[in-house]
Amino acid sequence: KRRIGVMTSGGDAPGMNGAVRAVVRMALFSNCEAFAIYEGYEGLVQGGDMIKEMNWEDVRGFLAEGGTIIGTARCMSFMEREGRRTAAKNMILKGIDALVICGGDGSLTGADRFRDEWPSLIEELVERKELTSEQVAPFKHLNIVGLVGSIDNDLSMTDATIGCYSSLARICEAIDSVDTTATSHQRAFVVETMGRHCGWLTLMAGVATGSDFIFIPEKPVEDGWEDNMLSIVKKHRQLGKRKTIVIVAEGAIDVHLNKITPTQIKDILSKAGLDTRVTTLGHVQRGGQPAAYDRMLSTLQGVEAVKAVLEATPETPSPVICMIENKIVRRPLLEAVAQTKEVAKAIESKDFEKAMRLRDAE
Ligand code: ATP
Repeated sequence: KRRIGVMTSGGDAPGMNGAVRAVVRMALFSNCEAFAIYEGYEGLVQGGDMIKEMNWEDVRGFLAEGGTIIGTARCMSFMEREGRRTAAKNMILKGIDALVICGGDGSLTGADRFRDEWPSLIEELVERKELTSEQVAPFKHLNIVGLVGSIDNDLSMTDATIGCYSSLARICEAIDSVDTTATSHQRAFVVETMGRHCGWLTLMAGVATGSDFIFIPEKPVEDGWEDNMLSIVKKHRQLGKRKTIVIVAEGAIDVHLNKITPTQIKDILSKAGLDTRVTTLGHVQRGGQPAAYDRMLSTLQGVEAVKAVLEATPETPSPVICMIENKIVRRPLLEAVAQTKEVAKAIESKDFEKAMRLRDAE
């Protein structure tokens, strides 16, 4: 029987529990054994009770829970070869030779590196007499499958990451709340949103809430943006709008605004005569129950991840499970991560055309 491990790693995202549930249950359905690795790579390095066998009922109720029940952590020791060697040993002791990792690009890069090094890590464990050659014999290859858990929706080669639609829904709820008080007092609000190098959350929230002006990392601000923003806001007011909402993606602050903060944008609106406040949504955007879309996405992707494990050969590059035009597909994990990093670099160097071209590439 194959033994498949599942873990969540990096920043948490709503829907990660749905992925764990789907992997566990699809593994059991496929006549495999399933193991949850607690606290991301930390659990792999510590081993023992941090790697627990999971039965069907152990993941009951996971679908509607936010965050990640099996925990996540940033693990420094897994960045070192020694930590990865210990992780390999712990996996062999539990009989696990396949890992499904739900995390961001860092976690997926670490996973692929682990797979690459696996044969030499095993050799070292035998040389160091930590394991015998009989013990390691059945574990020649490690299978890795990635699932992208991130509210930012920043991975190339997928239309949606697990968590982004929940976060979008939460941002819209929050802006709706701000709207009612803004309308009552005829105020303006500058709302800061998450997303790192990706403006997806902000762009979609802007559309979904009918906000007045947004700043995203992908769109450069032109000279005179202050006057442009004020004239748009003024026009909306003249049309009878009693509120003003400006959304600033955190990524735009660094890339475009020469570190102009939401408070400084507030000052511009205040000087133009609008009673303006700043609201930073912060971690509220990451918390709470997953939206229906993320429950569906994580379930479909978790099922596909187990299929990918069972079909993998030593030659198959590690896949990441994606969603492209409403279809669940596999893409080479390393290529998707490399392309994501290229996009971030292009944005930092203000080559926005390149960034958009790369992000659209499948
Ligand atoms: P998020 O997008 O939320 O930041 P992430 O998966 O990119 O998620 P990271 O902090 O980059 O988050 O990575 C999570 C963990 O993955 C790290 O703490 C480390 O244990 C492991 N990891 C990341 N990069 C590597 C790497 N190059 N080699 C080995 N392990 C890595």
